[in-house]
Amino acid sequence: MKIGILKEPKGEARVALLPEAVKTLLSWGTEVIVESGAGQGSFVSDGTYETTGATIAPREAILTTADMICCIQSLSTSEISQMKSSAVLLAQMGALYNLDLTKFLLEEKRTAFSMELVPRTTRAQSMDVLSSMATVSGYKAALLAASSLPRFFPMFMTAAGSITPARVLVIGAGVAGLQAIATAKRLGATVYAFDVRRAAKEEVLSIGAKFIDVEGAKEDKGAGGYAVEQSEEYIQKQKDTIHEHAQKADAIITTAQIPGRKAPLLVEERTVLAMKPGSVIIDLAASSGGNCALSQPDQTIEINGVRIFGVDNLATQLPQDASKMYGKNYLNFLKLIIKDGAIHLNFEDDIVLGTCVCHAGEAKSPRVAQILN
Ligand code: NAD
Repeated sequence: MKIGILKEPKGEARVALLPEAVKTLLSWGTEVIVESGAGQGSFVSDGTYETTGATIAPREAILTTADMICCIQSLSTSEISQMKSSAVLLAQMGALYNLDLTKFLLEEKRTAFSMELVPRTTRAQSMDVLSSMATVSGYKAALLAASSLPRFFPMFMTAAGSITPARVLVIGAGVAGLQAIATAKRLGATVYAFDVRRAAKEEVLSIGAKFIDVEGAKEDKGAGGYAVEQSEEYIQKQKDTIHEHAQKADAIITTAQIPGRKAPLLVEERTVLAMKPGSVIIDLAASSGGNCALSQPDQTIEINGVRIFGVDNLATQLPQDASKMYGKNYLNFLKLIIKDGAIHLNFEDDIVLGTCVCHAGEAKSPRVAQILN
């Protein structure tokens, strides 16, 4: 069985599987073909892939001959059409949002797995690309805040005077938020954070940040530990609390998301206008609607001296480790669908079922099936 690894499109520096992961695939009795230049963004040469035992090939040859194609960003419909009809496609396709692509895959009776669908269960944790990439993004968001501020993050006591530490406010203390908090703390900032989940308070305190309490959050045990949509009244209370804290902050990092929903709007325009000139907002939720009213996905805008970074896919800015983590997630997942060097799909496994967009003309993931009904 041939596994193809493709070069990602322009703007994406990561690669789905680095040579270290290829070695493992080869040890499972598979053949691996890699598109020339696939590792370039992560500073890995074709030669390094070749020394592991992989073959370098042009894109078209991979698309038309591979039994399984692994990538991060999804392929276009025309490229999917070039794949063998029995081939399996694995990518992060946003299957619940990019419905035209999902429908195309279904109609074409393709077998496709979308990595963001990996169920968020304990057993699936080692395959969860959303978590690993959130770790990278949270870290990078804190660095971006530190490098964009016109002042220091840490406190300094020097002969040239004393500098007070920067004050950072992190909104949403999930995987990305906790990493942003930890990184900002390591850089010496004073960090405040809040989240609607009660469990987040303990985690925030344990890494040395101060927790901002907003009473009355709704929690749902059935949501698997994730946030649920809050009442209008609660969101308004949050907005008022953020408004108060934002005026003292040098940097705000927002990461608040609700699975499958538009991100909650928490930093209002009046709040941005009340912030100190020179301060920054890093909105990690920009591509899912934004936590800040003024953020624009993939753009930096400036209002009254406050810069708002609407960042999307910060993970691509740390391609070596991001690819390493992505590859590890991929391998852990591939272990479930490759047996004795061949593809083996066991839909009784909840992770295989939950991650599969479609197979043989049928939507397999219950989440995909539900959205199409
Ligand atoms: P996420 O990306 O969906 O959301 C980010 C954070 O935003 C969450 O902490 C959420 O509570 C918070 N949020 C949502 N609405 C908010 C609001 N109005 N105000 C403030 N904060 C708000 O979530 P995530 O970071 O991927 O994960 C959240 C939790 O789930 C974490 O505790 C994580 O450890 C856990 N998790 C478990 C698994 C697993 O078991 N496989 C996988 C991933 C995450």
